[in-house]
Amino acid sequence: HPEPDLPAPRRTTREWQAADAAHFLHPFTDHQALASRGVRVITRGEGIYVWDSEGHRILDAMSGLWCVNVGYGQPALVEAAARQMTQLPYYNAFFQTTTPVAVALAEKLAALAPEGFQHVFFTNSGSEANDTNLRLVRRYWDLLGQPERRVVISRENAYHGSTLAAASLGGMPDMHAQGGLPIPGIVHVGQPHQWAHRDGAARGLDADAFGRLAAQWLEDKILALGPKTVAAFIAEPVQGAGGVIVPPASYWPEVQRICDRYDILLISDEVICGFGRTGRWWGCETVGSRPDLMTFAKGVTSGYVPLGGVMVGERVARVLIERGGEFEHGFTYSGHPVACAVALANLALIEELDLVRRVREDTGPWLAERLATLRDHPLVGDVQSCGLMAAVQLAREPRTGAAFDPAHAVGMACRRHCFDGGLVMRAVGDRMIVAPPLVITRAEIDEMVGLVRQALDRTLEEARAAGWV
Ligand code: PMP
Repeated sequence: HPEPDLPAPRRTTREWQAADAAHFLHPFTDHQALASRGVRVITRGEGIYVWDSEGHRILDAMSGLWCVNVGYGQPALVEAAARQMTQLPYYNAFFQTTTPVAVALAEKLAALAPEGFQHVFFTNSGSEANDTNLRLVRRYWDLLGQPERRVVISRENAYHGSTLAAASLGGMPDMHAQGGLPIPGIVHVGQPHQWAHRDGAARGLDADAFGRLAAQWLEDKILALGPKTVAAFIAEPVQGAGGVIVPPASYWPEVQRICDRYDILLISDEVICGFGRTGRWWGCETVGSRPDLMTFAKGVTSGYVPLGGVMVGERVARVLIERGGEFEHGFTYSGHPVACAVALANLALIEELDLVRRVREDTGPWLAERLATLRDHPLVGDVQSCGLMAAVQLAREPRTGAAFDPAHAVGMACRRHCFDGGLVMRAVGDRMIVAPPLVITRAEIDEMVGLVRQALDRTLEEARAAGWV
């Protein structure tokens, strides 16, 4: 097993863990718990696999954090970064300057985006892009002389990032509880999550009826607030971090109708769904919405370097440009040349490998078919997928949908068994999710689903031994 030969000295796993616990505050982590367990040290990646410092090979069914879409170890991206760093590692886009590589990426993104998108605002992350969205929509309505349109509607259980504005746009109660969020002017409605509502609003409804009901929650909220106070609605086409929640087919057309009816801007957060994950370049194309703004990050560079941004539709861009004045917003690294060079190489590779079509016509349907074979497992209550993102819902009694006692943390137990079996899968409560690199093959999907079944079997054994079932 090759040790990393990069800047850090060679150390044993225990030494890395001790140094990590001493100095590294991790994102979304209980540090006391982490220090007592010891962190897993990942040293290398190739294709859909990563290796840890103990030499274990792990199938990365989460593409890092939903981002390594072209897989690990793609030389074209590395070479693009090295070339750009040699020629011009940095220059800014403030003060009447630009760089050819940032212009080329903006042009490329405009060509890939649905009709009506000609402009892009670059950021470093999805969170910053959603902060940008909040400022953009308020600026837009101010310029149109309707400053009273300030409220942005989002959804419960949504994830839109971790800055103050992005965490406020998100609908995660635990995040809101820390730091007094959401900030004013952001409200939330329910999600089209049929499984979660099975004992309540969704009881007795088929998928279509439930989808229309969930869209109605948006209209009800708009009417309660007063349509002239609402600036925008933000949502992911398919909710990712909340648990890969694939909405009923009736949901998005209704949402679009409602946004149109009240003249409300639609923001499609494409941070996970963008760049082929759902089998189209953009998730909005899969679900059939027509957003005014699109948030992107992650897949634009396959995570090799940080880059995010907002695709700004002409409805907003024209007002911003023609009614003018300075938009007082931006980042040192907006349009960072190295990030843009890597993005261009990444997008070229996605095209060369025909990954978007492959997800739509080959690997996406294959994943759905293979995951469906898990439906007979005594722990599986539901399976949902869209392209190469999928959820396996664990249930104590799959037939009735009865849930496990949350105190038993069955999802976390399953995630542990995944890791032990050489598979990275994520747990959102008792919902197990996958989003493998888009380069995954049918044979690798078979291997992945085999590992999922094995982890489910071990989880079932543990649940039986502990008396949870
Ligand atoms: N929006 C969505 C839909 C996301 O999934 C994420 C990250 N998981 C973000 C925004 C935030 O992106 P970042 O972590 O790059 O700030």
